[in-house]
Amino acid sequence: MKPYLLLFGMLLGHVAYSQIDKQIFNNVDKISSIEREVHRKKFRERKETTRLGTSENFDVKYYRTRWEVDPTVKYIKGEVTIYFQMTAAGNKVTFNLRDSLIISSIKNNNQPLSYSRENSSFEVSLPMTLQAGTLDSVSIYYEGKPPLSNFGAFEISNHITDLSSTPIMWTLSEPYGSSDWWPCKNDLTDKADSIDVYIVHPSIYKAASNGLLQSETLIQAGKTATHWKHRYPIASYLVCFAVTNYVQLTDHVTIGNSNVLMQTYCYPESTGAFQAGAQKAISAMIFFSNLFGDYPFKKEKYGHVQFEWGGGMEHQTASFMGGIDEGLIVHELAHQWFGDKVTCANWSDIWLNEGFATFLSRIYFEDKDPQNKLVYRNGVKNLITSKPDGAVIVTDDMYDLARLFDQRLSYYKGSHLLYMLRWILGDATFFTAVKNYINDPALAYGFATTNHLKGHLEAASGKDLTYFFDQWYTGQGYPSYKVEWSPSGNSVDVKLSQTTSHNSVSFFQLPVPLLFKNSVTAEQKLVVLDNTSSGQVFTENLGFTADVVEFDPEVWLITKNNVLTKISGPLPVVFVSFKAECNDGLSRLTWETSEEVNAHYFEVQKSSDAVSWKMIGAVNAVGDSKIRNVYAFVDTSVGSEKGYYRILEHDRDGKTQQTRIVVAECNVSAQSEVTLLPNPVGQCMQLNVSEQITEPISIYIYDISGVMRQEGPVSSEQKLINVSKLSPGLYLLKWTSDNQKDSGTVRFLKE
Ligand SMILES: [Zn+2]
Repeated sequence: MKPYLLLFGMLLGHVAYSQIDKQIFNNVDKISSIEREVHRKKFRERKETTRLGTSENFDVKYYRTRWEVDPTVKYIKGEVTIYFQMTAAGNKVTFNLRDSLIISSIKNNNQPLSYSRENSSFEVSLPMTLQAGTLDSVSIYYEGKPPLSNFGAFEISNHITDLSSTPIMWTLSEPYGSSDWWPCKNDLTDKADSIDVYIVHPSIYKAASNGLLQSETLIQAGKTATHWKHRYPIASYLVCFAVTNYVQLTDHVTIGNSNVLMQTYCYPESTGAFQAGAQKAISAMIFFSNLFGDYPFKKEKYGHVQFEWGGGMEHQTASFMGGIDEGLIVHELAHQWFGDKVTCANWSDIWLNEGFATFLSRIYFEDKDPQNKLVYRNGVKNLITSKPDGAVIVTDDMYDLARLFDQRLSYYKGSHLLYMLRWILGDATFFTAVKNYINDPALAYGFATTNHLKGHLEAASGKDLTYFFDQWYTGQGYPSYKVEWSPSGNSVDVKLSQTTSHNSVSFFQLPVPLLFKNSVTAEQKLVVLDNTSSGQVFTENLGFTADVVEFDPEVWLITKNNVLTKISGPLPVVFVSFKAECNDGLSRLTWETSEEVNAHYFEVQKSSDAVSWKMIGAVNAVGDSKIRNVYAFVDTSVGSEKGYYRILEHDRDGKTQQTRIVVAECNVSAQSEVTLLPNPVGQCMQLNVSEQITEPISIYIYDISGVMRQEGPVSSEQKLINVSKLSPGLYLLKWTSDNQKDSGTVRFLKE
């Protein structure tokens, strides 16, 4: 959904792309804060207090609804038949209906059933206990005047666009309003597999709803029954109808192998604008289908339905539109994939609906209007960072609509999380992962959580993204960078330090893009620094001497107040390289400095998870030097497995700076089919060879400096090796089968 109250969204969404007014973006902070206040005020009265509950012993299969309405009167009389399947044995089922609506009867096979009501739920007593798996149905006969709730779940008004003030009635149930006007299971756990909607209304009007129009039947003088049929799974809040003097417009678009119906229901006075709007939706539908898979409801239709609400609502196959501007068209269409096909599994994850719809809209307009990409991205970034706090996840109050639909957090910060993931993973991996997510059979036409999305991003990239979601999804705020850089011939030394705007996150781990330039020769190079800790120092070869640097030139990251300082002298220690190699089963670290000022020693740190670190050794620094110095350190710690390493340089004056993190995988035992016993060894040890290796074996024993100390064949029977001549210490035993097919390395300690 996209309320128009979010004026800033309008500015970004369409003004920005039709007539770019750069002034708008200079005033973004001001506009957004004014708007937020309007927005909050407006919703303050709309804080929902109704807590909904249904029993969990059934699964809704199908709704058949018959609603009798007149758009001049705010009143509904209805009959809703709910088909359900028991998921546990029981003789009671509980549904939702607002207590201000009157239930006249509830029936099963035409037999009245007893029921009890409590708040916004009612419990139906079934004629007998039903076993799990049993299909049954109940029909609820009810009527009344729905209350003002949510965003106005059931409303009447008049066209503001015509002088005769034609009446209109519409529904808009998101998030909690379905049961304010019809009995259903009003939650985010259970989609009905299909629905049939019958609307009985004055014949001078037309009724729009989900799915395909089946019939418009005159049932009595002046009364028409309009039948809509929808055969895709649907959440209760996406079920809708609207009644007024609609004009129906028809278009078609080819998506995949399907000729998809595009059906518009607009006011007679708005025909021209909605005709043009349909063409815009068609362009966007092709764009999104290419990126995320075919339009999800292509066997039926997509449609715009005009209504009198400030904004739009992504009702499944029938987006309700308060206007027909392109930003709104694209946003509501995007929801058909993100929101309708895959629906957030709880409202705390509403960014899976709104962040994605905003993201899709942004990439659509960036594709269409690339020259304004950066203006737009900066506007979004400034809005997100207009406050120092705020998480994407909704944890405080799920019934606070102003927070749920907070534009800064659920819409724009949510969408920019996706930009950052694109930047971290690369477009190919990111879009593959998102396509896998939206088409995952376990999620498609069902519900998803942020963890489902995270799982797909991790599966496609092979990366653990827990840190990212901790920092950006549950964490609050953003980083501010201090970039100190010093050109040195054709290379540049950079020290990256960071503070954060909110104490929920002490450090944001990001690949930081810096664009170095030579303003005379116009040479430039984008350098991406894999920033894993504050104070990290990098040396990058540019191939030219830089005199200018630009931070994050394409605005991938959410940051603010970055300070870039060119340092004339060298950084205390300039690291030229730092690497880890796996050498005969041991991690060998080497690093090189090109300059040192007042350096004391290098502390070697190791980690198994790149989060908690321990010191495993120290190497003295030359101290003050203008020439290259090479340092090395061998990690002899037993059981090294996968190791992360970094070097912390200590100055004599107590300052420190650290290198980037490198990784070495020296999992000796895993690659070996031979073990040694005993280990540590005294005089003699035995080789245990796995059964797959039948060939004779030769062994070579090296000390840790790499010098071979012993070699020879191993007796095929006893496989005993006498090592009595070796000095105490750590050794590596390399072995190869005589046919050269198998080989490996085993480490042992001589006592
Ligand atoms: Zn939306």
